[in-house]
Amino acid sequence: MTSNMKDKVAVVTGGSSGIGKATAEAFLNEGAKVAICGRSRERLDEAATQLASISGPDNVFVHACDVLDENAVNAFADAVNKRFGRCDALVCNAGQARASNFYTTSDQDWRDEFDLKFFSVLRPVRAFIDMLSASGAGAIVCTSAMLARSPEPFLIATGATRAGQLNLLKSLSREFAPINVRVNAVLIGLVDSGQWSRRYESGEGPDGDKIPQGTSKEDWFVELAKSRHIPMGRLGTPAEAANAILFFASPMASYITGETIDVTGGQARNV
Ligand code: NDP
Repeated sequence: MTSNMKDKVAVVTGGSSGIGKATAEAFLNEGAKVAICGRSRERLDEAATQLASISGPDNVFVHACDVLDENAVNAFADAVNKRFGRCDALVCNAGQARASNFYTTSDQDWRDEFDLKFFSVLRPVRAFIDMLSASGAGAIVCTSAMLARSPEPFLIATGATRAGQLNLLKSLSREFAPINVRVNAVLIGLVDSGQWSRRYESGEGPDGDKIPQGTSKEDWFVELAKSRHIPMGRLGTPAEAANAILFFASPMASYITGETIDVTGGQARNV
């Protein structure tokens, strides 16, 4: 089976690091052209160099843009249209989790989390939907979280807003089916990405636990996998998440919409 992504155009928000960058690599390896955005110009430039080494610089476009800034997202879409003239797949991936519980989440934190999880989907979708529809086989994939179905008290706002986001994606899948745009989500458990490296460097785990001094990142990840009861005994890699995203984004999933795939190493316990 081939992905049939050759010469298609895929847009990945948050494509300069972690799962987003691995997704951009997966598309390029399948012969697609890729446009990525992120806020940090420096991170984008670094990613551009690495991505260009896969199939040449002509197939890669990077644009600095905060997905929460409507004008910037519209300018990104215009720039993609100008550069590649189409968009066949949109991966709404930009974002991060908020480590907080009931007592440590202020009203503003709740609003910020709602903004991030909803508008990081709504704004790019608004900006790219005409191009996706014109593709004739458009696909939207959201990088979401296992938390949407299995909440954790130490990620209270992220879990609640991820659950709402899944509901939104289901509505979009029904509304966009007649215009040939599919909408799906990949639910990540724990993937070794920029987020987790930053947590390790901060010396504090997501539930406020201190990482013992002298613990290597690899050893901390092994401990994390144990403490989170991940049956496969390890964190996932960004490439493993990217494979599921590529599947949903490509014509391999041409009759699948409004669905999810868990990429959790067996951690998700919902049936
Ligand atoms: P990384 O931190 O490695 O990558 C996040 C990417 O998003 C970066 O390119 C970052 O670039 C970009 N980004 C963040 N905020 C914005 C913004 N407002 N506008 C534009 N770009 C933005 O994290 P991951 O790869 O882990 O995360 C990817 C997605 O997967 C996120 O939505 C995350 O919540 C989700 N996820 C990850 C899990 C994991 O275990 N890794 C678990 C569950 C969900 P820059 O900072 O320069 O803007």
